[in-house]
Amino acid sequence: MSNVQVAVVTGSNKGIGFAIVRALCKQFQGDVYLTSRDPSRGQAAVAQLQEEGLRPLFHQLDIDDLQSIRALRDFLKEKYGGINVLVNNAGIAFKVQDTAPFAVQAEVTLKTNFFGTRNVCTELLPLMKPYGRVVNISSMASSKSLGGCSQELQQKFRSDTITEEELVQLMTKFVEDAKKGIHEKEGWPNTAYGVSKIGVTVLSRIQARVLNEQRKGDHILLNACCPGWVRTDMAGPKAPKSPDEGAETPMYLALLPSNADAPHGQFVSDKTVQPW
Ligand code: NAP
Repeated sequence: MSNVQVAVVTGSNKGIGFAIVRALCKQFQGDVYLTSRDPSRGQAAVAQLQEEGLRPLFHQLDIDDLQSIRALRDFLKEKYGGINVLVNNAGIAFKVQDTAPFAVQAEVTLKTNFFGTRNVCTELLPLMKPYGRVVNISSMASSKSLGGCSQELQQKFRSDTITEEELVQLMTKFVEDAKKGIHEKEGWPNTAYGVSKIGVTVLSRIQARVLNEQRKGDHILLNACCPGWVRTDMAGPKAPKSPDEGAETPMYLALLPSNADAPHGQFVSDKTVQPW
């Protein structure tokens, strides 16, 4: 087994994830894994960074596919005995002009952004080494959409005692309510992406609390963040930040020094803890 430190970024063949891999290759002391659901897109991205003189490694990962997640888990466990840095970046968003019915958008968006991210966490968080850093890429859309929820839902999502199972039930209910066409009546905002990112932020708060309860002595720090509005295929060419600039807050959280005990369990934007 290798003693080398290891960092893993999900959905990193392009966009912000790709820029996070680039920055980790420059700033992280250890092996950096660029992952992609499509091996040829992933290898092309690796080749692009190699042309810049960087040396990322590649592993396939589709966060919608439990077998793919478990294959990565087994690989990392065997080769490194754990993980030092995990960045959950993979995500999707329907375009505003997309004509897919809301029920479809809700199911598909939640499947990847919430349930896929959660499955990665379920399989990989137990591998986090002491002083490990976990960064879940959420969005300002999460706090904005929280404000669009009913008072009852807001209270649940802000609760300091909500469990992961209760959160999963709520995210499942959103998809079911969308299918029945009653999501707004049930207090949900009219945004599948926003609700999926509420899920990512609340999941992060829960996971940080569980780490405090179960692994306090391991000094692992886990946070959610917004990268800002970034020029990628998802956000389009008009966004103000370059992907490298979008990587700055995730990098700050991924490389929090070993003597830091905060932020932890926070939602962070522009390297600043945001109210939830
Ligand atoms: P992007 O350019 O569309 O890149 C998304 C990445 O996620 C791609 O590599 C994509 O792979 C991958 N991905 C999607 N589904 C996946 C799956 N099931 N398994 C593995 N990888 C998957 O988007 P981006 O703007 O860089 O977004 C990155 C993250 O930042 C997302 O979580 C997004 O919600 C968040 N975010 C972005 C902005 C912004 O302004 N851009 C703002 C706030 C938050 P493929 O190439 O195979 O599709």
